Amino acid sequence: MADTIFSKIIAGEIPCFRVYEDDQVLAFLDINPLSKGHTLVIPKEAAETLDRLSDEAAAALGRVLPRLSRAVLQATGATAFNILQNNGATAHQAVMHVHFHIIPKYADGSGLGIGWPARTLNADDGAALAAAIAGRL
Ligand code: 5GP
Repeated sequence: MADTIFSKIIAGEIPCFRVYEDDQVLAFLDINPLSKGHTLVIPKEAAETLDRLSDEAAAALGRVLPRLSRAVLQATGATAFNILQNNGATAHQAVMHVHFHIIPKYADGSGLGIGWPARTLNADDGAALAAAIAGRL
């Protein structure tokens, strides 16, 4: 995988406003926040997208995400937040190193704006699709 801006941040070659670090995870403030407290949480393991990440690195991220979210809420006074995790340029991923966004949502509307073009799941399609996914786990 090619080097990204985040591998340079992990290596200490580019500065960041760090909020947390352990053997497998680094968290720091987003340089262009959608709202106050917008934080990025990344694995030190280099993987472009979540589906390519090891179980171990994923577990390390999952272990700290709730604690980091609590800290962001307490430090900002926000009471709501979104976790965003983009995979692939089509899905709005700009930095090709796995990252989770913690984005506080405020009463003034600042934070993540969400489009949610919901459709209806047909029962036959749902059964076939669920079986297809389950069969690949
Ligand atoms: P994506 O669209 O890939 O999910 O989001 C990438 C995020 O990384 C963006 O929110 C962007 O502001 C942030 N970002 C890009 N470059 C840097 C950087 O050099 N430092 C920091 N702290 N954040 C960055």
